[in-house]
Amino acid sequence: MLKLYNTLSKAKEKFKPINVGKVSIYSCGPTVYDFVHLGNIKSYMTADVLRRYLEYSGYETRMIKNITDVGHLTEDDINQGDSGEDKIAKKARLEKKTPSEIANFYEKYFYEIEERMNILPAHYFPHATAHIPQMIKMITELIKKDFAYEVNGNVFFDVTKFSDYGKLSGNTLDNLKVGARLEEHPDKKNPWDFALWIKAPKEHLLKWESPWSLGYPGWHIECSAMSSEYLGDTFDIHTGGEDNIFPHHEAEIAQSEGYSGKKFVNFWVHTRHLLVDGQKMAKSKGNFYRLEDIVEKGYSPSVLRLLILSAHYRTQLNFTWKSMEQAKTNLEKITDFLSNLENITSEKKGKKINLEKYRKKIEKAMDDDLNTPLAISVFYELMTEANKLIAKEQLNEEEAEKIIGFWEKINKFFGLVIPKDLEQVPLEVKQWAEERKEARMVRNFAYSDELRKKIEAKGYLVEDVKNNKYTLKKKK
Ligand SMILES: [Zn+2]
Repeated sequence: MLKLYNTLSKAKEKFKPINVGKVSIYSCGPTVYDFVHLGNIKSYMTADVLRRYLEYSGYETRMIKNITDVGHLTEDDINQGDSGEDKIAKKARLEKKTPSEIANFYEKYFYEIEERMNILPAHYFPHATAHIPQMIKMITELIKKDFAYEVNGNVFFDVTKFSDYGKLSGNTLDNLKVGARLEEHPDKKNPWDFALWIKAPKEHLLKWESPWSLGYPGWHIECSAMSSEYLGDTFDIHTGGEDNIFPHHEAEIAQSEGYSGKKFVNFWVHTRHLLVDGQKMAKSKGNFYRLEDIVEKGYSPSVLRLLILSAHYRTQLNFTWKSMEQAKTNLEKITDFLSNLENITSEKKGKKINLEKYRKKIEKAMDDDLNTPLAISVFYELMTEANKLIAKEQLNEEEAEKIIGFWEKINKFFGLVIPKDLEQVPLEVKQWAEERKEARMVRNFAYSDELRKKIEAKGYLVEDVKNNKYTLKKKK
């Protein structure tokens, strides 16, 4: 039985979906004004592993991941959605492009990164700009219910009207009073009120007609409107980075619960930040890595995936090149192990491995709030046991195939892409190996030896199996 840490209750809770066998998940997606970085990848991966594990456990999932293409202001992440400039509009201004050119470019980039990281695509990626009517409807209702008010074409959510404000982040109004002071917007009643609708300045390109002004929505209302559109008023799981907890998710709860009068989300799952060399990533520090920086240094995206899996999603993974090197070695060990298993052709009676024991241990780890580092280390234990048997030639083909099948099942939720040895073999080496096979069939051993030497000179080993079959491996 899966237990998930719920940010709302601050405890691990038994996961129970609203509808038997089905799980609805909303993931905060990218604001498409910049490149996806390692921190984003870590957060998207948590949602991916969670979804994959739910599917492995027999649930049917429905995952919605929004594309924020308007309304995310430069100060939104620290402030309350009413100051700064629209991130996409700002980038468009700086790069002398239209906001939609900017959004399209970074959206495409985001999909590419998800694909390279082997993150399963969400079932649907709704765009904020395509859901303005739903947001207007929600804001209208919030005003009607007295949770929101309009001043000078701007609409704000009145946080003092929502008694549960602060229940997710702990930032209740009492706690906020003693905290940092905000720069007050002249139209706001209370400093912590946040914008639902913003009157657009004249030169602003992204704007829509509304009952209040020609303007654009606040960032938070987008996620409330789109999640309710696709998953209903109450759904199972909402994911995001820890930086989303406040104000973004706190605001989503206030809006959605104010609007529907029902509980918004049952499980809140948040990913902790990633550090680079022990420090927070920042463009100014030059440690703001993207996937390309990693691939450029010769690491496959799966090495990064394994590194991220090697730390629990609620721990602060410290990214270093040394840790990448370690992850690379580990991925190679898994790759070699699987390729060694594939090469076993012995049919003689061998030893058995208790795969059921390993399956239970791995599932127990995953059930405990997705403990991927423990689950992976259990697989390494299996590798150690099997490698000993392989070395003593005590593992036969049937058992080897069972282990491969076992790996394929659990890798459904690890989602690692294991390079197949042969895919990397140069074409000429493959051709020599084929020629060599034919030479052996006509018993031309002199020529077959010559070809073996040519293959070895290229760094590969050819080993004959049976029925004229052979295997090609990289020399160690
Ligand atoms: Zn969101």
